[in-house]
Amino acid sequence: MNYTADIAIIGGGASGLVAAITAKRLNPNLSVYIFEALDRVGKKLITTGNGRCNITNLNLNLERFHGEDVSFCRYAFERFGYSEVKDFFYGIGVDFINEGDKVYPSSLQAASVVDALRFECDRIGVNTVLNCKIEDISFGDSFFLRSSEDSILAKTLIVCSGLLSGGDKIGSFGNIFRLFKNEGFKTVRVSPSLVQLKTETDFVKQLKGIKVDAKASLVCGNKVVAEYTDEVLFCDYGLSGPAILQISRQSARDEKEYTVSLDLYPDIDKTELASKIKDRAKLLQNRNLEEFFVGSINKRLGQVVLKYCGYKLSDSVSVLRDADFTKIATALKSFEFKVLSNTGFLNSQVSSGGISTDEFDPKTLMSRRYRGLFAAGEILDIDGDCGGFNLSWAWASACLAAESAVKSL
Ligand SMILES: Cc1cc2nc3c(=O)[nH]c(=O)nc-3n(C[C@H](O)[C@H](O)[C@H](O)COP(=O)(O)OP(=O)(O)OC[C@H]3O[C@@H](n4cnc5c(N)ncnc54)[C@H](O)[C@@H]3O)c2cc1C
Repeated sequence: MNYTADIAIIGGGASGLVAAITAKRLNPNLSVYIFEALDRVGKKLITTGNGRCNITNLNLNLERFHGEDVSFCRYAFERFGYSEVKDFFYGIGVDFINEGDKVYPSSLQAASVVDALRFECDRIGVNTVLNCKIEDISFGDSFFLRSSEDSILAKTLIVCSGLLSGGDKIGSFGNIFRLFKNEGFKTVRVSPSLVQLKTETDFVKQLKGIKVDAKASLVCGNKVVAEYTDEVLFCDYGLSGPAILQISRQSARDEKEYTVSLDLYPDIDKTELASKIKDRAKLLQNRNLEEFFVGSINKRLGQVVLKYCGYKLSDSVSVLRDADFTKIATALKSFEFKVLSNTGFLNSQVSSGGISTDEFDPKTLMSRRYRGLFAAGEILDIDGDCGGFNLSWAWASACLAAESAVKSL
């Protein structure tokens, strides 16, 4: 088919749907088209927040975002921050609830967010073309897009095609990013973020399936690069869980050597912990080390930490001396795992890197090369922490890009 559009949007994901609604509401006379590669819009959105969609965060602090120039997103968040996002979703029937700072739809169903966005697109007359994977873009005063079966001539173009996280099945093809790179746009290396870490497996394997609350630190040399306190899950390949995803970013960005250090007692210092262990040992002299931590921490975890310290589990607790209490406390406060790699784009929640923000004006999200070209969401070199920050960026950047596209016409 041949299409002509005032505003063409590549991608019917988080940012594409919101950009389309924003543009069409601002000027109902414009023809607004979403071109979506998959057979439905919002396929990734349905999977977010374990199907509950952590839609935004009460505290949209720039410190929770990453990229070569994080200040790039300041204006978008000033214009489209938490209350604007809340109003937008309230207007399409999505109420919010929060768990701490994390905000969810009160239905706790990501699918209902996609439905509400779809209903609004239909109501206001956004055109959605499904199964239309854009393979080629000619850039100029207007934009000529091609899929295998369709040709599109667009006065303005908003690129909302995301990057590589989650894989093809939910629309993370990355081909539009490659098109921009080939066109000479400045790009920043793309790597998986919010991703599980593969580590040396000697000890994690023995702890497979155990979850603990811990302060997880990503350490490079002597420097703590990132730290976060939350649940950690031991897996046969390494470490997972919210705390690990949150600190994973930097280890995938360069070739340096990283270690994850787990503090299993973040609320007390090492001296106090050593003294608690000493008291425990006095009390439990008749046990052997295999049972020393039974009733205190997960039995297997206690055993593996003692093995990590080099003890034989068949030894009696009575062999422990002051230096041992310090040694065990040190291990419990810095249980270390060398990072080998990560579980890749397919398992990551977001891709860091993307098209350099230098290519776009932060106040409009318009390209500095082509008037009429805009970008929003993950394809830009902005990514956020776990907690609703990535969708917040998708919403804010989509609203700003759409508003600017409408103004430019
Ligand atoms: C499992 C998982 C859970 C997540 N949970 C959360 C969460 O709870 N909270 C949060 O804030 N963030 C979460 N994220 C991150 C968040 O989903 C993304 O950052 C966000 O969806 C990015 O929005 P986007 O519009 O840029 O891209 P996407 O939502 O990925 O949308 C891109 C769309 O473009 C389409 N497309 C791609 N290429 C083409 C093409 N060539 N032609 C036509 N269409 C194309 C895709 O099919 C897709 O529909 C999660 C991510 C994953 C993978």
